Amino acid sequence: MDTASQDLARLSVAFITLGCAKNEVDTTHMRARVAEAGYALADDPADADAVVVNTCSFIQAATEESLEAIFDAADLPQVASGRAKLVVAGCMPARYGDELASELTEAGAFVPCSREDDIAAVLAEVIGAPSQGGVAGPAAEDKLAGVSAYVKISDGCDRFCSYCTIPYIRGRYRSFPLDEVRAEVDDLVARGAREVVLIAQDTGRWGADFDDPSTLAVLVTSLAEEHADTWFRVMYIQPEGLTDELLDAVATHDNVCSYFDIPFQHADAGILRAMNRTGSGAEFNDLIARVRQRIPQATLRTTLIAGFPGETDEQFEDLCTFVEEADLDYIGVFPYSREEGTRAYDLAEQVDDDEKADRAQRLRDLSDAVCTPRVAARIGRTLDVLVEGREEDGQLFGRAMCQAPEVDGVTYLESGEVGEVRRVVIGDTLLYEMEGA
Ligand code: SF4
Repeated sequence: MDTASQDLARLSVAFITLGCAKNEVDTTHMRARVAEAGYALADDPADADAVVVNTCSFIQAATEESLEAIFDAADLPQVASGRAKLVVAGCMPARYGDELASELTEAGAFVPCSREDDIAAVLAEVIGAPSQGGVAGPAAEDKLAGVSAYVKISDGCDRFCSYCTIPYIRGRYRSFPLDEVRAEVDDLVARGAREVVLIAQDTGRWGADFDDPSTLAVLVTSLAEEHADTWFRVMYIQPEGLTDELLDAVATHDNVCSYFDIPFQHADAGILRAMNRTGSGAEFNDLIARVRQRIPQATLRTTLIAGFPGETDEQFEDLCTFVEEADLDYIGVFPYSREEGTRAYDLAEQVDDDEKADRAQRLRDLSDAVCTPRVAARIGRTLDVLVEGREEDGQLFGRAMCQAPEVDGVTYLESGEVGEVRRVVIGDTLLYEMEGA
């Protein structure tokens, strides 16, 4: 029997993923478990025997988007007729538990994040066991989607920021062992990854929870030295995680992007305390200066929340002043989202929705006004650009080390092969996009 006929005979499973890169990584792991168990992986949910929707419910807007995807999947003819089964996985079952199960009768099973390794056993219950053995290898049926890949180095979070649902959804912080991370990186590099982006809710804490504690600097050093031709990039370093040891590890390895994504969330000490976070605008400015002193060419990104409960006009103005004065390259802005089950949900003085949206927009406009000249200041500089692909019109694009995937724009270039790193002179910029030859 040829491969196509074998696949026709096998029960097949399709995945739909909502949310952030961390959820994409979880889907990749579930796909590997499913392939190992002997199911075929279907690209098109309309052709599958089971459709797994990996949900996000970090904030209300994400929950609504996930619900829409679940209802779309439930409306697929073979699901609606009962010939295929719907499985809801990820953050929503973790956050809403039995309440979700009683309301979403369209679903045949629920798999919260903590049980994602059991996905094959759950599928066996709802669509039956596969008729043949699995495919060897952790991701044997998965092709790498591009030249850049995400690797999750821990899950959960212990910080309990007062606005955040993650510790309730994902549980306590747990670092993944060095050997596990290393094996995943080895596999991705062998399959063509030229950039590995290390992610977690709190990357800077990696290793602190081991019996024999380790650090993110040790992890980054180990990976960078094992794969000298691969770029490494670390996202989501909480301010406390930015140690001198980490700065040294980044500064001394050319293949580690000198890129620091540090979520400050606010600059007013009072608001930060109400968020159950530490720091102040002055401390964050000192931290930025410390990074720039050690690595002058470093790129710094942060995220900020506008309209947190109790945020006065004066505190918001202070946040605007921080944005104007802080030496940051990229700033992501979000309006505060009031989430049931969090401590901030019950705080008095919730800011009106329109006011939150206005403040967020003002902060975004201000961030653009401050950051885009910094991007334009790269004109004339020679940067390494990892060639990623072509757009529909044939235009070649890639990213420089100062551009993280999905958030910082791309660099358009004239020539190069996908997967290659080119030396490019930046000739022009448009907002956050760069162009070079
Ligand atoms: S550090 Fe991030 S994931 Fe953890 S509680 Fe705070 S906002 Fe949520």
